[in-house]
Amino acid sequence: MTELLILGGTTEARLLCDEVSSFDLSATVSLAGVTTHRLNMSVHTRIGGFGGAVGLKSWLLENSTRAVVDATHPFARQMPWNAHCACCDAGVQRLRLIRQGFAQQSDWQFAFELQAALTSIPSGKRVLLTTGRNDLQGISLRNDLEIFLRTIEPVENLPAHVTNLLIRPPLSREDENALMKGHRINTLITKDSGGVTTPKLDAARALGVNVILIERPKQPPGPMVTSVEAAVAWLRDVVGISS
Ligand code: NAP
Repeated sequence: MTELLILGGTTEARLLCDEVSSFDLSATVSLAGVTTHRLNMSVHTRIGGFGGAVGLKSWLLENSTRAVVDATHPFARQMPWNAHCACCDAGVQRLRLIRQGFAQQSDWQFAFELQAALTSIPSGKRVLLTTGRNDLQGISLRNDLEIFLRTIEPVENLPAHVTNLLIRPPLSREDENALMKGHRINTLITKDSGGVTTPKLDAARALGVNVILIERPKQPPGPMVTSVEAAVAWLRDVVGISS
């Protein structure tokens, strides 16, 4: 039995686990299992996909789950919709916990996907790409750019004009600054992942680096909060789970 399922993979999910670990309830956090380096979580942890919305619905029913907090990343495209459908079908309450987007600057450009962002960059630019190792469509076509792809884990079979920088965040503003200066970066493509600190964007601003922000995917309908405190309040006030 799992009264509360937290869909994880973010700092917010880990912090929510810390909060609910002292609650008088059975909770499980679920991780996709996509990274090799995993932090210990303070509630029971399961790893791997459920098998789509249908698999998740079965899991919820088998475990008599009362509530789901979907704390997956703002750029997780599939899991929030799977959770929405599974919870509707299973009659389980669901909350989306998604951190606030970046406070936007008037000189930033916006794109709905990486390929569109790359298309807008003039030839010869030196581009720092921090959008992750998935969805790299379009980078092989832009061999007139010097691209520095920053990832936590290595990416295989990249074309010659793409250099893979292996870096585990978070970086300080000074480190971001040194990285951009060191590689003579003049364009940054990053996701609107959000968060309270923005060292990468602050460094770009200080160095006059052009910023292209990839916009967040559409979220399913339903209740949504941007902080762990608000998620705890929802569990208490709406679901009736108390500490
Ligand atoms: P996604 O496109 O939304 O999900 C792809 C598939 O991975 C889902 O259909 C599901 O498989 C499985 N999955 C995703 N999150 C899961 C979870 N918490 N527990 C169990 N299975 C999960 O997500 P993604 O963009 O590949 O990201 C995968 C994970 O990395 C997410 O948990 C996300 O929070 C985290 N993450 C993503 C990003 C990003 O930029 N996308 C950045 C940082 C962290 P089944 O259909 O088989 O259930």
